[in-house]
Amino acid sequence: MFELTGKVAIVTGGGRGIGRAISRVLAKQGAKVAIADIRLDEAEKTASGIGKEGGRAGAIKTDITDLSSVKAMIEKVHELLGKVDILVNNAGWDRIVPFLKTTPDLWNRIINLNYKGVLNCVYCVANDMIEKNSGRIISISSDAARVGSSGEAVYSGAKGAVISFSKTMARELARYNINVNVVCPGPTETPLVEEMKQESEKNVKIFEAMSKIIPLRRMGRPEDIAYAVAFLASDEAGYITGQVLSVSGGLTMA
Ligand code: NAD
Repeated sequence: MFELTGKVAIVTGGGRGIGRAISRVLAKQGAKVAIADIRLDEAEKTASGIGKEGGRAGAIKTDITDLSSVKAMIEKVHELLGKVDILVNNAGWDRIVPFLKTTPDLWNRIINLNYKGVLNCVYCVANDMIEKNSGRIISISSDAARVGSSGEAVYSGAKGAVISFSKTMARELARYNINVNVVCPGPTETPLVEEMKQESEKNVKIFEAMSKIIPLRRMGRPEDIAYAVAFLASDEAGYITGQVLSVSGGLTMA
């Protein structure tokens, strides 16, 4: 089940956190994984970990906010692994700040990474999939996009844009057998969340409070998200497109 043998996958932000877990799980299922991350040292750690587990992966320094960097990354993927079957748009970032205390510079940073980064990657990769007449695009949004999240207004908007964009691309690309879906994590234990906690005691309290109200009684683990992505990347999910799957221990059920 969920065999990905021989498939070529790109995972953006695969250097750490959720992206690292996705890279590992896809490689375990047999995919050859390109880890496209702005932090090359972390991407190399993910790749060498996969190598030790018997999988195949390569690290490629990429800034997904820069179209020319994404184009160069795809060329390298073609050289190293071949044309792309699976794209996982995972790289993302946020800071918890009430909207009226944010600045336009912060809006730009958040929108460029969380939304425009996805546009850049889909723009460059979809042609490989059209050529193959098959493909999977899975984007990591957030439950913040589905239900809102105080202190994350611009991020919620950008992640909501990822959902709307993905639904439209699911329609546009269906004729080429390219399935486009979205996975929305709830609060998940990653270096990003650790950094948020280190920023303030208030943030620590926010995450503690959220853990308590999650019906399954714990924060997400990166692997929880990765298994959902592996399913959506597999042949078994071939009849699923344009959908949004929350992986949040039941925190949101809307
Ligand atoms: P993380 O910060 O731990 O890891 C993100 C990775 O993305 C890092 O390796 C980082 O180097 C990379 N990255 C950042 N900017 C980049 C760029 N411009 N180009 C390429 N790579 C870049 O974050 P995470 O918590 O693992 O989050 C992964 C995804 O899940 C993000 O899209 C995030 O918004 C989403 N998400 C996370 C949570 C959570 O609670 N952790 C909840 C909902 C959604």
